[in-house]
Parts: sequence; C-alpha cells; structure tokens
Amino acid sequence: MTGTFRTTSEEETAAVGRQVADGLSAGAVVLLYGDLGAGKTAFVRGLAEGLRVSPDEVSSPTFTIMQEYRGGRLPLFHVDLYRLNDPREIDDLGVDEIAADGVLAIEWAEKLPGRPATAAAVRVNIAHGSGDERTITIE
Ligand code: ADP
Ligand code: MG
Repeated sequence: MTGTFRTTSEEETAAVGRQVADGLSAGAVVLLYGDLGAGKTAFVRGLAEGLRVSPDEVSSPTFTIMQEYRGGRLPLFHVDLYRLNDPREIDDLGVDEIAADGVLAIEWAEKLPGRPATAAAVRVNIAHGSGDERTITIE
C-alpha cells in the first residue's frame, strides 16, 4: 500500500497502520520517519492490530531497543533507534536477520547506517501539521 494519507487522530493513524499490515509478508521491514510525537508508535500499534498480535502492549521500546510480539499472523519486531547513537551498536542489531521470519518496524530509521537489504522495505514518513493533523506518506 502506497500513497498519502491525512489523519486527525492517533486512532486514524493506527488505522492506516492496520491497512498496511494486511499487505505485509515475512521479511518485510517498515522504516518509520518523523519527529518525536509524530505518531510512529501509534502507527506501529496499528501494524500490531493488523497482524493480530496484542496491540495493548505496544509502546516505545525505549529501554529495551527491541520488542517482540508473537501470536499473530506474523511475529512483529519493533525497534526504536532514538536513543542509539553509535552506528556500530545499530549495526549489531542485525536488522536484516531479524526481519527474515516476521515484520520488523523501525522508528527513527534515518539512523540506520545503510538501507536494509530486504526488497520488502516500506518507507513511512509522518509529518506534523497543525494540531492533531498528520500527513503520512507511504512508499
Ligand atoms: P512517536 O512514536 O512518533 O514519537 P507517538 O505515536 O508515541 O509518536 O505519539 C504521538 C502523539 O501524538 C500521541 O500523544 C497521540 O495521541 C498524538 N496525536 C495527535 N494527533 C495524532 C495523529 N493524527 N496521529 C498520531 N498521533 C497523534
Ligand atoms: Mg515512538
């Protein structure tokens, strides 16, 4: 699913994530771009809902680097690079290997040293408008 979507609530942003989830298969990497508070985690919650893993548990994996949600159509791996600044540390995560048997969602994907090797990369940019408006571009 590609295109531009305008949302005016966290729930609407999650709904876009749910739709994207339907088109994902094992090995997919979802690269998320956007400022703090843009709605990246909200979007990942939507991915979790769409994959039928427990969305209630989805929060920013700030202290764990990676969270894993299983029990759905595919496992969801959720990484937030916000607090990682050492490129080697990011490299050590082994993004390409993690993704192989599930869906990997990466917040602050601009911090990745290179593009993931997988062909199944979906780029999601979330830009702030005024108030609760967000523009989500998916390519
Ligand atoms: P990020 O992970 O990008 O830092 P979060 O998803 O954690 O952002 O938080 C987004 C915040 O913005 C939440 O507090 C949410 O309620 C609020 N918000 C307001 N409008 C929207 C919208 N249209 N889409 C997503 N979040 C929104
Ligand atoms: Mg976040």
